[in-house]
Amino acid sequence: MDFIPPAKPLIGDEERAAVDRVMRSGMIAQGPEVAAFEQEFAEHFGLGRSCVAVNSGTSGQHLGLLSCGVGPGDEVIVPSFTFAATANSVALTGATPVFADIDADDFCLSPEAVEAAITDRTVGVMPVHLYGHPAKMDRIVDIAQRHGIQVFEDAAQAHGASLHGTPVGAFGSFAMFSLYPTKNMTSGEGGMVSAANPDVERLMRLYRNQGMEKQYHNEVVGLNNRMTDIHAAIGRVQLTKVDAWNEARRRNAAFLTEHLEGVITPTVADGAVHVFHQYTVRVQDDRDGMSQALRDEHNVGSGMFYPVPNHRLAPFSVDVDLPETEKAAAECLSLPVHPSLSSEDLERIVTGVNALAKAGV
Ligand SMILES: *Cc1c(COP(=O)(O)O)cnc(C)c1O
Repeated sequence: MDFIPPAKPLIGDEERAAVDRVMRSGMIAQGPEVAAFEQEFAEHFGLGRSCVAVNSGTSGQHLGLLSCGVGPGDEVIVPSFTFAATANSVALTGATPVFADIDADDFCLSPEAVEAAITDRTVGVMPVHLYGHPAKMDRIVDIAQRHGIQVFEDAAQAHGASLHGTPVGAFGSFAMFSLYPTKNMTSGEGGMVSAANPDVERLMRLYRNQGMEKQYHNEVVGLNNRMTDIHAAIGRVQLTKVDAWNEARRRNAAFLTEHLEGVITPTVADGAVHVFHQYTVRVQDDRDGMSQALRDEHNVGSGMFYPVPNHRLAPFSVDVDLPETEKAAAECLSLPVHPSLSSEDLERIVTGVNALAKAGV
């Protein structure tokens, strides 16, 4: 009985050939592959705006915030139930992340909680399309417009997701997609940022490259957050495969939802296209016990995203009452949903979960 891993990056001969092509060209730093990847990414996901590639999703979020003018004294509303990169990127600009609660149905920022968290220092809100489900962008964009604040998207887990026909990545002043190996598509490490306008795009390109558009004519203080052509070449190949992988994720999710018993399965909102970066159930009795027993008794891996809410992490540690966040952190269990699962794997996941849920584990 082989171990079923909770995630599995898919790297094929095409990716290997693309890397070899770049290596043989002798030009491996940021160059034509990165430029092509940026264009192809924007076109592929129908973003209708320009994209800028960087060396990680976190860098993209950081530079996106800087490019939108976020800095010391500002507040940005973020969920606490997310990966720490969301709040880290805000804090790295010198601004303060302000944690708001999520909704129980989609694990994403609650529009009511966002509105309640707005102060006269709030400059923006950064919803996370968690697990591949779009956040309630129609309502969050409406709130942001009424209060004159910006929207920044953390689309790290949501390549190809959409809400009422609008792709994630097309709502905010900027949106960041992560290209880390376990995400829906990868470039090895990397991030892609879509920019709502030419000013944000230009600043992104400056910050990525030491503040230079023209060599040695530095315009701002910047970093080296460039993507290499090697990574871009991998990403370009993955772009041709990601739609089929997302379809497979949705098929696997549908099977799990149809057959799982004794746990609360994820829902998809009306008008939402979910890309199931994670398939996350709620285990109300003993989530940690279920995860351990799945591994020990059924050789099935699972994940907890995220067991410690960000507002309780040492660097942030603030005393706020986020009941839905605490509940989700205690109950969430992500089961394998990745495209390489076989039907036997899916059966084994269902058998294991249902037996453990029935036994009260
Ligand atoms: C992965 C992830 C990030 C960070 O992306 P990296 O490419 O790992 O830097 C940010 N936010 C969320 C929600 C993520 O899942």
